Formats: sequence, structure tokens, C-alpha cells
Amino acid sequence: MYKIIDGKELAAKMRADIKKDVEKYTKENGRQIGLAVVLAGDNPASQVYVRNKIKACEEVGIKSYAYYLDGGVTQAELEKLLHTLAEDKNIDGILVQLPLPKHLDSEKALRIIPTEKDVDGFSADNTGKLCQGKESIVACTPNGVMKMLESCNIDICGKRAVVVGRSNIVGKPMAMLLLNADATVTVCHSKTENLKEECLNADIIVAAIGKAKFITADMVKEGAVVIDVGMNRDENGKLCGDVDFESVKEKCSYITPVPGGVGPMTITMLMYNTCLSVMRSER
Ligand code: NAP
Repeated sequence: MYKIIDGKELAAKMRADIKKDVEKYTKENGRQIGLAVVLAGDNPASQVYVRNKIKACEEVGIKSYAYYLDGGVTQAELEKLLHTLAEDKNIDGILVQLPLPKHLDSEKALRIIPTEKDVDGFSADNTGKLCQGKESIVACTPNGVMKMLESCNIDICGKRAVVVGRSNIVGKPMAMLLLNADATVTVCHSKTENLKEECLNADIIVAAIGKAKFITADMVKEGAVVIDVGMNRDENGKLCGDVDFESVKEKCSYITPVPGGVGPMTITMLMYNTCLSVMRSER
């Protein structure tokens, strides 16, 4: 019988713990932890994400500083703002909501964010440290997946893990985290031959593809742990993951649902990373 890994429940528990840490910090230091969120343009999905991040800050007691820039903002204006935030002692974390409007060079802009304020964990420095197994700020979604596995005491050491997807923000850091936790990791992508066979070998599958219900029951080994990062719309416009949950669940020992799985963990991990960067800088 499969067990559901409830991301909503774990996220709520983690946020309650973070709230306590933030309260303690605020009391002891007479200042609030600050997170700057920069949004350029009017992408509706980005607006929703930013709103939810600001709401999460309010919930845990982090002070959010929102910067809504016009879609026509120049590279120089964006960089000037990021330099100011980088210097600002009240700002502990800086998040630039991606994607930026096409005329902006996001890589160049993101390089301005100091490593210790890079709470998304996307910088080359944090990514490099993760690859070397050193202390770093880890991208929120894959780090959230690790917390979910930990919360269920799922054994990772020596297990075969297959990550489907190799994006810089999910697939690659996910593979690194699993490798650092001593799994034997295979990373699959759109050019992978025999994807089904690769998946059938896996004790743990992480699907980060962006294709509705792509992982089907015939691709999953009996007793596997299946983590679904995907966020898609099905043919009826309903939110669904990359895993065909209804058929796959019967083969799993553990599975995450969509919605209510990885999604709620991502913003929680942003709060976690923001606190972590403050605590580390004070060590
Ligand atoms: P992405 O940048 O589009 O990457 C998708 C990856 O899937 C690519 O590496 C691609 O391979 C691979 N892929 C595509 N078609 C494939 C196929 N037929 N077989 C095998 N691999 C295939 O997407 P992403 O940003 O990583 O996000 C992935 C999914 O996670 C999306 O649904 C996104 O909405 C969701 N997401 C959720 C959260 C959350 O908080 N829950 C956070 C971030 C993302 P190539 O590299 O060869 O093109």
C-alpha cells in the first residue's frame, strides 16, 4: 500500500518552526530579517508567485521589500537597484523573479547578488559549492524534495535514483543533492534513449519534466518512491503533475500528489534559505 508524502502538511510544520526562529532573531537583534523581491514586467504567473512569496514572508515574520519595475526597465536601472540591495544591511536575501523581460540579461543581473544573499541558490558560486559538496544555499524546489524524503525517513544511501529533467533550477541541483546523499544517480532528458528502462531501474524517481502525466505505471518499479515536481494543466485545465498519479500510485511505496506535494514546499524553502543565510552570516 502506497503512502502519500504530504507537502502541504510538512510545509506548514516547517513554517511554524521558521516563524519561531524568526521571532527569536527579531527579539534578540532588534531588527527584522529582510527579503527583497524584484519583479520586472507584468507576467501574470510571476505576479502570482511574487504575491505568494510576500504572503509567506508575512506569515513567518520576515519583512518583505517588493520592487515592481516597469516592463521597459533598462539593464542599467535593474543593475543599479541590485547593487543598492546588495549593499543594504536590512536586506538579507534578494530574489529576482524569473523570467525577466527578454531585453534584459538575467545572468548578468543575477551575478550582482552576493552569494550569501542569493536565497534562490541559482548563482554559479552556490551551484558550484553544491557540486563540490560544500555548504551552500540550495535551490528551493530540489531542497524541498530532500526535506520531503527526510521527513519520511526514506533511505537514499546506495539507492538508484533517476531524475527526469536537467534544468539548472530543478533537475541538475536535484541530481547533485541525491548524489551528495550517496544515491547512484542517473539524469534523464529529452534525448535519453530507453527512458522507460532507466525509470524501471529506479528506487527513487524525481520527475521534473513539465509534461502532464508523462510518467506512467509501466515505467515504475514495484515499491519505488516517486516525487512529482511537475506543475501542468490537464486536458480539462486542472492542475496536474508529470506523473500519472492514479495509475502510478499503486506501484509506489511513497508518492507525492499534485497539488499538495512539492509545490507548497518551494516557497517554504525560500523562507528557510533566507533565515539560513542570516544565521550563517552571524556565525
Ligand atoms: P524545464 O526547464 O522546461 O526542463 C524540463 C526538462 O525536462 C528538460 O531537461 C527536458 O530535457 C526534460 N524533458 C522534456 N521532455 C522530455 C521527454 N519527453 N523525456 C525526457 N525528458 C524530457 O522545466 P523546469 O523548470 O525544470 O520544471 C519542470 C517542471 O517542474 C515544470 O512542470 C514546472 O512547472 C515544474 N516546477 C515546479 C516547481 C514547484 O514548486 N512545484 C518549481 C519549479 C518547476 P532537455 O534538457 O533535453 O530539453
